[in-house]
Amino acid sequence: MTGKTSDTIFDLFVIGGGINGAAIACDAAGRGLAVGLAEMQDFAEGTSSRSSKLIHGGLRYLETYDFKLVRDALIEREILMRKAPHLVWPLRLILPYVATQRPRWMIRLGLLFYDHLARRRMLQASQAIDLHRHPAGDALKPDYRHAFAYSDCRADDARLVIANLLGAERHGAKIFARHKLLSAHRVDGHWRLNLESMKTGESVELFAKALVNAAGPWVVDVAGRIVGTTISRKLRMVRGSHLVVPRQWAGEHGYFLQTRDGRLMEAFPYEGDFTSIGTTDEPWDDAPEKVNISDKEIDYMLSEVNAFLKKPVTRDGIVWSYSGVRPLFEVGGGRDGDLSTLTRDYSFEIDGRDGVAPLLTVFGGKLTTHRRLGEHAMRELCRVMPWPKQGLTRSEILPGGDFGSDGIEAYRRDLAARFPFLPQAQLARYVKLYGTRSDILLQDVRRLADLGVCFGADLHEREVEFLRDTEWAETAEDMVWRRSKLGLRMTPGEIARLDSYLTGSPSSGRADRN
Ligand SMILES: Cc1cc2nc3c(=O)[nH]c(=O)nc-3n(C[C@H](O)[C@H](O)[C@H](O)COP(=O)(O)OP(=O)(O)OC[C@H]3O[C@@H](n4cnc5c(N)ncnc54)[C@H](O)[C@@H]3O)c2cc1C
Repeated sequence: MTGKTSDTIFDLFVIGGGINGAAIACDAAGRGLAVGLAEMQDFAEGTSSRSSKLIHGGLRYLETYDFKLVRDALIEREILMRKAPHLVWPLRLILPYVATQRPRWMIRLGLLFYDHLARRRMLQASQAIDLHRHPAGDALKPDYRHAFAYSDCRADDARLVIANLLGAERHGAKIFARHKLLSAHRVDGHWRLNLESMKTGESVELFAKALVNAAGPWVVDVAGRIVGTTISRKLRMVRGSHLVVPRQWAGEHGYFLQTRDGRLMEAFPYEGDFTSIGTTDEPWDDAPEKVNISDKEIDYMLSEVNAFLKKPVTRDGIVWSYSGVRPLFEVGGGRDGDLSTLTRDYSFEIDGRDGVAPLLTVFGGKLTTHRRLGEHAMRELCRVMPWPKQGLTRSEILPGGDFGSDGIEAYRRDLAARFPFLPQAQLARYVKLYGTRSDILLQDVRRLADLGVCFGADLHEREVEFLRDTEWAETAEDMVWRRSKLGLRMTPGEIARLDSYLTGSPSSGRADRN
């Protein structure tokens, strides 16, 4: 095995390329620091591509009196919609009233809090609706008459990770894709880190003034086995799974459903032609990378959603499913062994004793609060490091999100006028995924044939190379399940052909840079 040493002494090095690591790197790089980040798998392959994809205050957390979490999260919704309008967009949710469940006054009060806990400029307030008159009632059994409509946001979780990494890179961060941290030691006031390339086996030695452990469900393992710190709190891993089925109703609204065991589950339109149903809360004791859906979870979700839908969803109708583990910590949450009531808020431990190179460890955290978590982590580090106190992430638009005052629709129309030979749906898909970076993807394209070979659905060689060159994607799985969800529209044969293409032709771009 060969090895190399990086010449740069990083101000800050981040372990973990999920949403939280990416957000910290983005904030730190924006402050002008020399930042590095390593991810052992594909970016977002851990928890951050396996979420329910909601940017939400978390109505359910009001029941556990997590007012601070809800308020912080509500504020983030509108900040994120401004920073990345193509990746975070409004979702109207319908919460049917069920006579045997939460009383109507309680839901009304919860929604009143939800509407007013934080200032709301872009999202509609909640309202009571009559399902027998409102179009949202069409898909539901007639037993449900009353409901409440309220607003949250949908997001593309895996692409938010990429947008944050691109944001970090724009400010000079060095991103080590598919590099695993093997060891970390404090030496002469610095961290000496050893990474291993998961692709070539090559080892890389580098130095950093401060270290962040943002390894999500692996955080305790990285802390103990690799970094050599002791973590006193107990990690509880909680599995959550989702089903994807063909589209079940025409409207763009989703449903927030009260389950018979007192939980809440969502169902909403997904990737145009599909419906997403989820999620579950099950203890998970095995390695995080082994997580998968159980038959029990499938039965549970089908039976709960079918308690509401007029036209039942069947097992045969399941097109795709995915599972992830929430790394939750017992810090005052978790009543009566109920996993859904463990706190979803994040916390940090910082080891920055006099003169030693600091280490910040991240526990928990939600997709919704990633930007805030990044800013907060930097604030903590700035207490012990002489770094700029102000970050940019509250206002700085993420790469691809700069649609200007005319907005995303005007950009899509402009693209359609400039590329009239490309199908509208394909252009709309580019705008949703890449935002204004679609212009880079389509540079010098004058006719459909310039996009090159089509691998299936509307994935052409040009996009594949764009993903390799600018977004660290290397495998077919990276491309069709994380950078996009084209896996829902491609056959296994088409995906295998894409894989052979990728293994057969070396990348010209950044995938080989590190
Ligand atoms: C089922 C489910 C539904 C959810 N729904 C929502 C939702 O709707 N809204 C919301 O706001 N939040 C939601 N969440 C929570 C949210 O998804 C997570 O809080 C978030 O993704 C955690 O991100 P992370 O960066 O901490 O962890 P991860 O995304 O897991 O990232 C950690 C990374 O560290 C890497 N790593 C580990 N060890 C090493 C090493 N030695 N070297 C290099 N890299 C390493 C891993 O490969 C991994 O990619 C949900 C979570 C689950 C599981």
